[in-house]
Amino acid sequence: MASGTLTIDLGALVANYRALAAMHGGETAAVVKADGYGLGAALMAQTLAKAGTRTFFVATAEEGATLRRSLGPGPTINVFSGHMTGDTDVLRDARLTPMLNAPEQLALHLSSLPDAPYGIQLDTGMNRLGMEPADWASIRGDARDATLLISHLACADEPDHPQNAAQLVAFRDMTDATDTPRSLAATGGTLLGPDYHFDMTRPGVGLYGGLPFAAARPVVRLSLPVIQVRDVASGESVGYGASYVADTSRRIATLSAGYADGLIRAMSARAKLWAGDTPCPLVGRVSMDLLTVDVTDCADPPKALDILGPHQTVDQLAEAAGTIGYEILTSLGGRYTRKVIQP
Ligand SMILES: *Cc1c(COP(=O)(O)O)cnc(C)c1O
Repeated sequence: MASGTLTIDLGALVANYRALAAMHGGETAAVVKADGYGLGAALMAQTLAKAGTRTFFVATAEEGATLRRSLGPGPTINVFSGHMTGDTDVLRDARLTPMLNAPEQLALHLSSLPDAPYGIQLDTGMNRLGMEPADWASIRGDARDATLLISHLACADEPDHPQNAAQLVAFRDMTDATDTPRSLAATGGTLLGPDYHFDMTRPGVGLYGGLPFAAARPVVRLSLPVIQVRDVASGESVGYGASYVADTSRRIATLSAGYADGLIRAMSARAKLWAGDTPCPLVGRVSMDLLTVDVTDCADPPKALDILGPHQTVDQLAEAAGTIGYEILTSLGGRYTRKVIQP
């Protein structure tokens, strides 16, 4: 028996892409790094390519090479980490476009792959990746063939944060004099409005149903099977550390999934599951392969419960665990049976 069934709604994925694309007149690329935010980069990208996406972003050259095999020769695949030592053969063979992050990366790229495309990532204040204004000023004359200039916002999920406007000004200052296409916005930046859209947006999490795209359609449902149900008397404990002690007689279901499946231990005693429309609290600690859930309120002992679904989004589950939807999605493990709802 698998550790549950992960159902991926490709119709919702495409609808989220179209809704984000409809917010502006430029191109909308798709970010499919980290195996498509845990949902399968090949499946996500092939579905989006059929829906019209022409440009994809991944984190590393290796991810790009794998994606190239899934997508074939047509789409552009951009690599956020740029051209690192050792990447040259992979970038060339898979026809990837590195987003170069430092003058050293530009020099390596121009000397080793002089005819291969590249973009430039600029640092406008996040201080994570990209060329700073002085770096850019020193090499921009050599980078006239760049296909794209990008930068990334640190606070786009907080629309009122002053760093958004500051980074916008910095990006304009660094790029207004060029006619190279520009991209600043991920999901959050897309929602900040037209000033942030430039020629291309590049959402990731919003495609997969996550915040800050609050209007997204949920893409995942995760249903976990019940292995065993038992009645626990008042005063008995459940699970490791005996951290949960029943205060009245309770009915406890043990489910097949645990922290090894991405249902992180921080969910212990905090998250909820759903048997149809009935909320059922997780009790005791999350084990590696098992969860214990109080199903006393269910009329009949359920055969399976949803931890993600119509009643609980990835962000609601994330909040219960003290994290963000991105981490929940990218942690979903390999033991689930994956089902797909075609668009
Ligand atoms: C991950 C990432 C994105 C996508 O961000 P979301 O918040 O998932 O939309 C876009 N650009 C860069 C540079 C990234 O690292």
